[in-house]
Amino acid sequence: MSVAEDNIKKFENSNCEDNNVFYQAMEEVIYSIAPLLESDDKYSRYAILDRLVVPDRVLKFKVVWMDDNQKVCVNTGYRVQFNNSLGPYKGGLRFHPTVTEGVLKFLGFEQILKNSLTGLPIGGAKGGSDFNPKGKSDFEIMKFCSAFMTELHKYIGPRIDIPAGDIGVGSREIGYLYGEYKKITSSYEGVLTGKPYMFGGSLMRPEATGYGVVYFTNTMLEIESKDSLEGKVCCVSGAGNVALHVIEKLQDIGAMAVTCSDSNGTIYDPRGVDLALLKELKLEKRLSLEGYLLTHPESKFFPAYQYEEDSHAVWDIPCYAAFPCATQNELTEKDAQNLISNGCVSVTEGANMPCTREATDIFLSHNICFGPAKAANAGGVVVSEFEMSQNASMTKWSYEKVDEKLKEIMQQICTRIALTAKDYGVEGNYVDGANIAGFKKVADAMIAEGI
Ligand code: NDP
Repeated sequence: MSVAEDNIKKFENSNCEDNNVFYQAMEEVIYSIAPLLESDDKYSRYAILDRLVVPDRVLKFKVVWMDDNQKVCVNTGYRVQFNNSLGPYKGGLRFHPTVTEGVLKFLGFEQILKNSLTGLPIGGAKGGSDFNPKGKSDFEIMKFCSAFMTELHKYIGPRIDIPAGDIGVGSREIGYLYGEYKKITSSYEGVLTGKPYMFGGSLMRPEATGYGVVYFTNTMLEIESKDSLEGKVCCVSGAGNVALHVIEKLQDIGAMAVTCSDSNGTIYDPRGVDLALLKELKLEKRLSLEGYLLTHPESKFFPAYQYEEDSHAVWDIPCYAAFPCATQNELTEKDAQNLISNGCVSVTEGANMPCTREATDIFLSHNICFGPAKAANAGGVVVSEFEMSQNASMTKWSYEKVDEKLKEIMQQICTRIALTAKDYGVEGNYVDGANIAGFKKVADAMIAEGI
């Protein structure tokens, strides 16, 4: 039995229903790092894999709050503190009805390796709640955030664990969470990132993940001697923070994003997505994408309910490069085949694990340039770390400084994983390159810190 198969068998028991996505993420890493484990037995002697796949702790708590109709509501809150070998725990908070312990374990596990790839001193964590922010008033969001922080504040701190945003948690929610933390602790400190600029946020944090995805993609295309994105048609899914800023940066560099999507369906605008309208609909009014048609009746809307679970309108549109930026497992085997038949050359994951395992395998076997999430969407956590540095030194960096440093780090990540892939005999495979490089740094730190 190979090292990978042996390890897969060992962790099979964790494949219970709630852990499905966690197991999927873990399995990919186990296969990728097999050459590293085979090359040096210190990783098995120190039982690094066994230790890395178990979080340091999983905090689970009750969140009780009152809605606008004076109804008392109960949700579950979580913080999965996964690994702090390289620095304090760091990772976002997700507020979405699909949040479970298993989903947060998957996201936290990915975060360890992602944060390791940035080269910055940050460990991995993730948290959130099954609270659904959709349709809630501003006041209800505030009440929920206060109640959530009443419990969470016990476990976090600027040198312990620094949460940030994720799905359903933007600067409004971070503002309310921070306000409550400050009220409870009387401490004005950098305990959360993604804060509004006026009280300690970094310039460019909202843009960072999306811009970083595009910087990563152009570096990957250059390394692989492919045409850059300039002048090319691109398909983007999602219409949230990551998708909006991928579209914005694509437009900046002269590429054309023709799609976006939300949980109700997909917009296809062959003349290029109207970004100002999209921001108005999704950020200001928080409406469904269908409203886009009122201003652009010539564009098309494909309702999500008309599609089977294994195919999505957004991946059926011909493009040079695809950017899945909505959620996990949103791009399937069938979608991958459609993209390839339509001439797609490059796929970069803006969301966390948006491509199923089968879809990823298809891209890799067809030599599509494939940028995995843990490397390509690291821009958000990179600028979060810049925010921590600015808070700790009581300084403010200019937009240009943040952008320049972000670009430099995204290019470094891409180059490092390309070189790692080459060193381990899998040239061109950025998935294996990212997993090996990310794992090795954490593993070496764990060994150096003792058991
Ligand atoms: P947002 O909440 O801002 O946006 C998520 C978007 O995805 C929304 O438009 C939402 O639609 C859409 N969406 C959700 N589920 C589906 C679905 N099943 N099909 C189609 N669209 C869907 O989240 P972010 O943009 O912040 O995060 C998106 C992804 O990027 C997540 O995987 C997150 O973990 C990852 N990520 C985010 C980072 C960040 O800095 N924000 C950093 C690194 C990774 P609707 O409006 O209808 O809900």
